[in-house]
Amino acid sequence: MMTARIKLRKGDTVVVSVGKDRGKQTKIERIWPKDGRILLPGINQYKKHRKPQGEGRPGEILTLSRPVPVANVALICPRCKEPTRIGFRMDGAKKLRVCRKCRADI
Ligand SMILES: [Zn+2]
Repeated sequence: MMTARIKLRKGDTVVVSVGKDRGKQTKIERIWPKDGRILLPGINQYKKHRKPQGEGRPGEILTLSRPVPVANVALICPRCKEPTRIGFRMDGAKKLRVCRKCRADI
């Protein structure tokens, strides 16, 4: 089965291109390739209310991040610091990612 390949990797710096967090930059914390989603700390946050669970466990409000579709972000090139698309080049048998703007290996 062919699924859309995710070209991003954990630790890549990306910028959010849609929604209320648009323009924010952060590093990818986790990737779900099958879902096409990534987790970005501090992005797409929501508050979860947890009920008190007996004595000594008062209720609390947790702030959590929901994964976002990979299509909603753009990679920031570590070299030119611009949002870019990822290209590939072959180095012998190795496939390397390159910035489409400055051609640097990523
Ligand atoms: Zn670049």
